[in-house]
Order: sequence, then structure tokens, then C-alpha cells
Amino acid sequence: MVQGDDATDTAAARLRQLHTYFREHPVRSAEGHSYTHFGNRSTVVNPGLPFNARVVEHIDRTVAEVTAYTRETNPDAAPLPDSVLDVYRWCVENTSHAPETVQQRRDILAYRHYLEHAIAAGDTRVIRPHRCPDCGTIGLHWQETRGKAICMNRHCARDNGGTHREYSLAQLAFEHVTARKNLRSVSAT
Ligand SMILES: [Zn+2]
Repeated sequence: MVQGDDATDTAAARLRQLHTYFREHPVRSAEGHSYTHFGNRSTVVNPGLPFNARVVEHIDRTVAEVTAYTRETNPDAAPLPDSVLDVYRWCVENTSHAPETVQQRRDILAYRHYLEHAIAAGDTRVIRPHRCPDCGTIGLHWQETRGKAICMNRHCARDNGGTHREYSLAQLAFEHVTARKNLRSVSAT
């Protein structure tokens, strides 16, 4: 599983942070925690608490995406774990025999989630260490309003007709995972 530079800084760890924050700032409805476990879903969105609603939606979307990938890859996958916090582990366990390219899709998905969880928690520092896929310089900035990372390098912008290049988190995840894979194959020879 490809992770952040710190081996403990993973999509699962970032999901746990979000989840912990959410538990410490719970919605007030009795059903407010139902997202914590699979099944037993009920409406949890409280319009008075936009942050919590946003986190619930975010976690739901995350789980749906990991589940869809896992079931598509392995129709015989084990039932979902009780806690959403185990969803990445469950995904890896049930897709570890898939072809390498299929597992790479999983790693890209997990790395994108790692970035998404961090940004959802307000930590945009995870963007800075990435190199611009076009000019190769470090110095990408997160643009909240556009939902994209932007390269601030002026030479890069000049080569792009004067417009700063923008990248989605999916693009950054793809670049990150495939670059690591290439590094591994180089060091293995
Ligand atoms: Zn650039």
C-alpha cells in the first residue's frame, strides 16, 4: 500500500483523525453516529452544523468508493468490517491477489483519499511536497475555491500561455504512485 512519506501517515490514519474530530464535535441527533458502523444508516445531516454534515458526506463518499473498488475487483470479498476505520485494511486484504495494475488503482485511490482526508480536516500542507507534473518543481499550492492544486512557478505558467497549471488530487495521486513504482523498479535492477 502506498502511503505518505511517513509510513504511519496513511489514508486510514487521516480518516481516523477526521472520525475522531467528528466524535468530539458530534451532531446532536440521536442518529448522529450511525455513520460509524455499516448498516443502520439513517439521515444524519443537520443543516445547522455544516461542518459535521460535510464530514459525514465525506466519509460516506470515501467508504462508497473503497467498497465499489473492492467489490468490482473481488466479487467474493468478505463482508464489510463493522467500523469504517477498517475499510482500507479490508480493501487491501480482499484485493491482494488482484493483478498489479488493479492493485495500483487501489493505491492511487488510497493516496487520493489520504490527500482528500487531510484537506477535509483543513491540512493543506500535504500538497506542498508534490512536484508539478509538468515543470517538476516543488511548490504546488492548494486552491480551495477551485478544488485544485496550482503550480506557482512562473516559467511553468509562461510555457502554458501565461496561465498557472492546475492539477486535480486524482492527477497528483496518479503521479505520486506511479513515480514510486518506477523508483522501486529502478532500485530493483
Ligand atoms: Zn509547474
